[in-house]
Amino acid sequence: MRSFRLTTMFFLTLAAALGLTERSRAEPVTAAQVRAAPRKIVVSYQKEPMVEVTKIDPTIFYELRYATDRNFLGRQIYPQNSRCLLRKGVALRLKRAQAVLRKQGYGLKVWDAYRPAWAHQMLWENTPNPEYVAAPSRGGSFHGWGVSVDVTLVDLEGKEQPMPTDFDDFTDAAKSDYVGGDATIAANVRRLRRAMIEAGFGGLRDEWWHFTAEDANYYCPVDMPLEAGGRY
Ligand SMILES: [Zn+2]
Repeated sequence: MRSFRLTTMFFLTLAAALGLTERSRAEPVTAAQVRAAPRKIVVSYQKEPMVEVTKIDPTIFYELRYATDRNFLGRQIYPQNSRCLLRKGVALRLKRAQAVLRKQGYGLKVWDAYRPAWAHQMLWENTPNPEYVAAPSRGGSFHGWGVSVDVTLVDLEGKEQPMPTDFDDFTDAAKSDYVGGDATIAANVRRLRRAMIEAGFGGLRDEWWHFTAEDANYYCPVDMPLEAGGRY
């Protein structure tokens, strides 16, 4: 998966470096073009700032589960006053999804957003299983790039709505393709996915709550503190 991402990133970067536009990107890139391409990333969102989601949209609720003991480790790993951080362009997309949901009487609650590499390493050390936690040796998680977000559906007052599982459930029930018999849960999963996909995110088959910006490969890892003024 990771190498697929890198390969995709390489060709997108190359296409951009060659000046291929959105329209012509489908044209094959020749070996001569590859050799002639400047080794410089022309299109990149590397400098796009990290922002607090609630400053972009104060109607979005959040409860960072890793700042509580309500996660699969059963203990707190983020500092108490951690901020809910994402790349600005990604937070703006979340705002779009929120607007779609609010028109239907619902909204988003974030369970995890930016996750520093040290925190991801802790998750991995506790559960070194690539089915559940992306291996740090293979690039870790897009959460560390500020482009992935874990969200659930709430009502306008922030009350969590019935969903297939709780956060970080590693069973088959957490698959985004809900096959249970509860019509309300099925509708909620569909509602959340539709809003997120419409806003520019892609979902994950094994975790109904996990979404990544569809252009995630243009970004890069981030290293910053979760707390305002925190050290790292
Ligand atoms: Zn996630």
